[in-house]
Amino acid sequence: MQKPIKKVVIAGGGTAGWMTAALMQRVLHKQVEIELVESEDIGIVGVGEATIPPIQIFNEYLGLDEKEFLRETNGTIKLAIKFDNWKKKGESYFHTFGAPGANLGFCNFQHYWLRAKKEGVRESLWHYDLNYLCCEKEIFNKINTPNPVYQVPYAYHFDSALYGRFLRKRAEKGGVKRTEGIIEHVKTDENTGFITGLQLKDGHQIEGDLFVDCTGIRALLIQKTLGVEYLDWSNLLPANTALAVQTERFEKTLPYTRSIAHEAAWQWRIPLTHRNGNGIVYCSDYLSDEDAERTLLSHLESTPVNDVRKIHFKTGRTARQWHKNVVAVGLSSGFLEPLESTSIHLIQSAIVRLLKLFPHDGIRQAAIDLYNEESVTEYETIRDFIVLHYVVNERDDSDFWNDMRRLKLPHRLEQKIAAFKEVGAIFNDQHDIFKDASWLQVMLGQGIEPEDYHPAANVLPQAQLKDTLDKIRHAKHQPLSKMLPHDDFIKQYLNA
Ligand SMILES: Cc1cc2nc3c(=O)[nH]c(=O)nc-3n(C[C@H](O)[C@H](O)[C@H](O)COP(=O)(O)OP(=O)(O)OC[C@H]3O[C@@H](n4cnc5c(N)ncnc54)[C@H](O)[C@@H]3O)c2cc1C
Repeated sequence: MQKPIKKVVIAGGGTAGWMTAALMQRVLHKQVEIELVESEDIGIVGVGEATIPPIQIFNEYLGLDEKEFLRETNGTIKLAIKFDNWKKKGESYFHTFGAPGANLGFCNFQHYWLRAKKEGVRESLWHYDLNYLCCEKEIFNKINTPNPVYQVPYAYHFDSALYGRFLRKRAEKGGVKRTEGIIEHVKTDENTGFITGLQLKDGHQIEGDLFVDCTGIRALLIQKTLGVEYLDWSNLLPANTALAVQTERFEKTLPYTRSIAHEAAWQWRIPLTHRNGNGIVYCSDYLSDEDAERTLLSHLESTPVNDVRKIHFKTGRTARQWHKNVVAVGLSSGFLEPLESTSIHLIQSAIVRLLKLFPHDGIRQAAIDLYNEESVTEYETIRDFIVLHYVVNERDDSDFWNDMRRLKLPHRLEQKIAAFKEVGAIFNDQHDIFKDASWLQVMLGQGIEPEDYHPAANVLPQAQLKDTLDKIRHAKHQPLSKMLPHDDFIKQYLNA
């Protein structure tokens, strides 16, 4: 439709709605009118608390001051996720945001380490990862260096409801109009099928040219009005229920998320400065709600401060995330369960993609197709990464874990697992937000042992290889002396 976009209407004011409003306002200024409609009576899902490092770029685009952001959202630092009992009961591993080792030429560090292991080196791969060393000692500090060997990439844990409020203040100040009300009817053009306006319960009408569906799991515009199909991925990711509960602050906050696997479920623990986020994720075919609640409550480390909330979901994605003049952002576009904290990132990347392709002089099919193609790859690579955690396991204590091992894998994931198992190789897809180091840590952590390594790792003489690895390990330990216990860092940084 070759009609200039003068007004954007954002339906929904959860994390997705306010992230969209804030960034769109920041990038486009007053070139388009932006109106956001949300309903306090309906509320938000309000459980997203763990993120991945690109959130820093998003906050930078918005011009947020990191200290103010952490203060406003009761945020803490996240260096990794610790996975307990995922491979087998009693064993743990970390998926850190760091990269083990250093760049040693043609082939990745793991090939040198795999060779050294065969030659008797005992240190795990993680002993060459600064993020892991910080997690082990529960310490952190900001290190400003261009040298990747000494970098400590990080993300945040934060209260997403507070983040939404923080962004709302900024967006409204920048000119975004907020309207309170329940959307009761969505009007469409009978010739084009495009959405023309929203009618609220109190009779108020909101018209616009481009609509961003941020109505959460309801997907009021993209699915309910335009009828775009939802692709159900529960054959690969069968979890369909979460119970969430907040508890009192732990005495000490850790700089990482905990993900603890149980007999037929997994539990998250997320440390914020004022309280902790906890929850359990499970599939109702394997675990009853009562048993899930019992498991969750018996594994809390501090006293609950609110009632347990149940959230049902279906893993999958909306077949087209941009259709006609509607773009779905947030839970309306799909959900892949929270194991790797990817939903807020998917919001970020959807908004950035939309802004890159922003149809200021009219909506064109080519932009829609590009947008949708990229989002497919992004969703599928994240899905496969999450599936990897479940399907490679050595647990035999329940039907759940046994069935997970027998899942029919997507072809690309099957290829990736085979390439790693055979020669320690990792293949990265374009638009995969998880890079080599992430796949490497989860493949090893879940128990895939490569049978071989790249021949280029044989070029170094044996003594030189050992010396090189020792030097890298030593270098990775150097910054530790500048680190502080995580709580001390937060206190000092925020008071500086
Ligand atoms: C159990 C669980 C754990 C999660 N953990 C994480 C995590 O650790 N990290 C992460 O990145 N993500 C996580 N997520 C995902 C994260 O919570 C969401 O991606 C994020 O909160 C965005 O939600 P949203 O804004 O799309 O939807 P919502 O928060 O549900 O917002 C929907 C908005 O639409 C409005 N609305 C709906 N219908 C109407 C109507 N008819 N009229 C007017 N307004 C309407 C609502 O009022 C609300 O403002 C988790 C999700 C779940 C379910």
